[in-house]
Amino acid sequence: MNIHEYQAKQIFREYGVTVPEGTPAFSVDEAVAAAEGLGGDLWVVKAQIHAGGRGKAGGVKLARSIDEVREIAEELLGSTLVTHQTGPEGQVVRRLYVESGVDIARELYLGMVVDRARDGVVLMASTEGGVDIEDVAENTPEKIHKVFIDSLTGMADFQGRQVAFALGLEGKAVFKAVKFMKALYKLFVEKDASIVEINPLVVTGSGDLIALDAKVNFDDNALYRHPAVEQLRDVSEEDPAELEAKKHGLSYVSLDGNIGCMVNGAGLAMGTMDIIKHYGGEPANFLDVGGGATKETVAEAFKIITQDEAVKAIFINIFGGIMKCDVIADGVVNAVQEVGLSVPLVVRLAGTNVELGKKILDESPFDIVSADSMADGARKAIELTEG
Ligand code: GDP
Ligand code: MN
Repeated sequence: MNIHEYQAKQIFREYGVTVPEGTPAFSVDEAVAAAEGLGGDLWVVKAQIHAGGRGKAGGVKLARSIDEVREIAEELLGSTLVTHQTGPEGQVVRRLYVESGVDIARELYLGMVVDRARDGVVLMASTEGGVDIEDVAENTPEKIHKVFIDSLTGMADFQGRQVAFALGLEGKAVFKAVKFMKALYKLFVEKDASIVEINPLVVTGSGDLIALDAKVNFDDNALYRHPAVEQLRDVSEEDPAELEAKKHGLSYVSLDGNIGCMVNGAGLAMGTMDIIKHYGGEPANFLDVGGGATKETVAEAFKIITQDEAVKAIFINIFGGIMKCDVIADGVVNAVQEVGLSVPLVVRLAGTNVELGKKILDESPFDIVSADSMADGARKAIELTEG
């Protein structure tokens, strides 16, 4: 689960990571009142969307007067921001964050993610923080300094100092950087985060350290332990198809390809995506209807897939273990009856009652292509997307 910058900054404050003073605003008047409340003569008005790259897309703007705050708020609220992370359709700005401006001397990068290969958290830092960190990672990866944190010992001070020196920090900034890193690690572990990031981490003109941007993602599987975090959810920022799927107990992730997949079991779903890619196709989604899928969940899953306009063919790949193939076949036929079939449908069934399942599909009035194996199904689905 993702949250907004202003929410992440509130969590940072609770953990002792210094952030600029700021106030969220849901309307132009609130933005003006926020700036007046903050005082001073420089403000930053920031679009709050669940995507980075706002700076380059015009979603982060400096204001030197209250009138300018008003103008920027009017322009941003309700506008659609297209950043390199939103996709071409962009994201509508519904919330703003108004902050006191900061005098920036240097922009650094600090982040933490789970390193699955090593079973721990890896701390990443770079002197090249700011809006181009993706380019740095791609073109000059040696400029990203990595430190592995052992889950048993936690983060050691010396590791923090190493990173601080690598960032070229001096004096009190070293101690503050170590404090920030330890705080981030504590937050990461206690809140079951999957990403914590400060970009940019700023050295101010007076040599102080401050987190100018904040990003925190949480592990969905641990959210039940954090009701306060769950409260921060902003469903208007989430994919409607994914929300609908969650309501029906389906695991669904939309992707960029054109072959809609319906599979039972996460492992088989991964395997199905792999085989589609192997034969040169692109899956439109990951969809696991679960080991114990019913006629109803199959119908819901089918609806979700057919609502995706990018889908040019559907590949249903089911292993009938807990769920028998004939029940799945019935579910598919019912679903097609209910929502119609506007793209080719390929079905591969294996397992319990497979013959009966195939018979149901063959005898249905719909043009359903049957496949004998995963490879056969993937190839047929790809062929059918090509017209
Ligand atoms: P992102 O592009 O979505 O990651 O948004 P950020 O919050 O990182 O802001 C993008 C850029 O705006 C930063 O890298 C800064 O250069 C600039 N910026 C943000 N806040 C301030 C501020 O208080 N003062 C100044 N001068 N620049 C700022
Ligand atoms: Mn940023």
